[in-house]
Amino acid sequence: MTLNVGVIGTGMIGQDHIRRLTQVLSGVAVTGVTDIDAARATAAAPKGATVFATPAELIRSDKVDAVVICSWGPAHEEQLLDCIAAGKPVFCEKPLVTSAEAALRVIDAEVAFGRRLVQVGFMRRFDADYRRLKAVLDGGTLGAPLIYKSVHRNASVPAGLYTSDMPLNDTLVHDADISRWLLDDEIAAVEVRLPRRSRQGGELRDPHLVMLHMAGGAIVDVEISVNIAYGYDIRGEASCEKGIAALPNRPATVVTDAHGIRQAIPEDWRERFIEAYDQEFREWIVAAGAGTATGPSTWDGYAATLVGDAALRAVASGAREPIAMRDKPALYAAPVRKAA
Ligand code: NAP
Repeated sequence: MTLNVGVIGTGMIGQDHIRRLTQVLSGVAVTGVTDIDAARATAAAPKGATVFATPAELIRSDKVDAVVICSWGPAHEEQLLDCIAAGKPVFCEKPLVTSAEAALRVIDAEVAFGRRLVQVGFMRRFDADYRRLKAVLDGGTLGAPLIYKSVHRNASVPAGLYTSDMPLNDTLVHDADISRWLLDDEIAAVEVRLPRRSRQGGELRDPHLVMLHMAGGAIVDVEISVNIAYGYDIRGEASCEKGIAALPNRPATVVTDAHGIRQAIPEDWRERFIEAYDQEFREWIVAAGAGTATGPSTWDGYAATLVGDAALRAVASGAREPIAMRDKPALYAAPVRKAA
């Protein structure tokens, strides 16, 4: 059976997901698109797809079984609530929403519906390297994880569009989510330290050193450098009681020439996580076809929103900022790692 998908937002990642849904994956068709810019939606629409005037019309349409939201963050809440009201599975790019209150409204709606419908685009959880790292930690042979080091480096970010708050309320969400997932724990508090400013980004506050205090006592240190010039470099290493486990350097062709021996570094997130995005959608298509969702949930989107908020408070206060979460609804109960 083919899953008929409607895509809301046909910007950069919307177009990339349409390519993946139409040219890479099977069992799925893009039958509808919409964008605030109708010409962009028309240009991005695959052959035979309907261009809808509004997200609400796309969501309600009989031509659409499930929805992919790739609009900008502030539009997500209304679109998610409409999908839940229509009982349609929805894949939502991060951020889930842009405030904790909005996240709770989406949680309340999904809990009232009674079944998971929302999957959030935290693609790292589908990356083979991260999955192997998690399998080692879950296996327990290294004992409890004590420290996790997460490195998030971008070659550059668009000047003027990417603001000084975005390392903390946009970029950090990926490191926060993957840390919660790898360590199977919630983030209880956040600290931020600012080294001297990189001259690469002009007035942009960069880099950031973020400390995530996990509820169970482990500490995650996150380096976010968004103008590091040399490439997109994502690293992770867990120090445990009896050893360490780390992501490998991303396998790449080794070039040997008169300048030496070197390996290329991914240019950006599309190249580094291309297989992860494919796998994320493979698993979503199966779940959405069964009328539900898998992987990162509304609860995970809520947690990431709280971390972003706390990080912004922490950079302003210089203090350790606590995070208070609502009790987790049973709908989002996740398997807990076996004790080591
Ligand atoms: P983008 O290129 O600006 O695309 C967003 C598109 O949605 C634009 O065409 C925008 O139109 C349109 N849009 C805005 N509001 C809308 C609405 N209410 N209804 C329908 N369409 C609307 O941004 P992007 O880079 O693709 O990012 C889109 C989302 O994906 C963001 O939430 C971003 O954080 C997320 N993202 C995730 C990853 C990841 O690693 N998982 C990577 C990149 C982006 P206008 O330009 O006219 O506003």
